Amino acid sequence: MSGTTLQAGRPALPVDPDRDCPLCPRLHDFIASWRAREPGWYNGPVRSFLPPEGEAAVRFLIVGLAPGVRGANRTGRPFTGDYAGELLYSTLKRFGMARGVFEARPDDSLELIGTAITNAVRCVPPDNKPVGAEINTCRSFLVPTIARFPNLKAILTLGSIGHQSTVRALGARVAAVPFKHGARCDVGNIAVFSSYHCSRYNTNTGVLTEEMFVNVFRDVAEFLQQ
Ligand code: URA
Repeated sequence: MSGTTLQAGRPALPVDPDRDCPLCPRLHDFIASWRAREPGWYNGPVRSFLPPEGEAAVRFLIVGLAPGVRGANRTGRPFTGDYAGELLYSTLKRFGMARGVFEARPDDSLELIGTAITNAVRCVPPDNKPVGAEINTCRSFLVPTIARFPNLKAILTLGSIGHQSTVRALGARVAAVPFKHGARCDVGNIAVFSSYHCSRYNTNTGVLTEEMFVNVFRDVAEFLQQ
């Protein structure tokens, strides 16, 4: 199964927005301006990155914020082409969650192992800042994205926006499950791990060190081995 999720008694929900998704006018216009400026770039809602074995192989889902303008918005693959991906993919490889060579291009040899990566907001937002209405609207794709993985055990949220939208997508209240770096909380049968976002800003300012990021992945890896 791909492209939609089946929910008992309800119509199938699309797991990805249309390429010209009009639901968030501000993001639609922003992408249109980049299409005019950089016609060779991807410039569209970025689909989730899956392992080659497909949905059933996914036990671990990473939820980022939104595509970076010169990263995923340019290349079409989450966390590909900007600094955040360098740290994320090297850490995934370190824990056996990815293989191949990450060359910051969607046609490099990097493959995910048992892991999928998506974003809380699929379209690039101006200044990397989606507004509340855009986060809420795009959750209509995050909900079926989470539901599409029948063997999902753990989610890692990167940053407070990804965390809050994931908690809401799982049907929990944010007040009951606040964002905290390094924390784990169980929502239903999913373990939700949280980390500061691996952005260049956070690593340059020392909000997130590589050691802090690696420690979160160690927790996730230990949990998945149980
Ligand atoms: N690239 C993404 O795809 N998501 C982020 O959150 C940051 C960079």
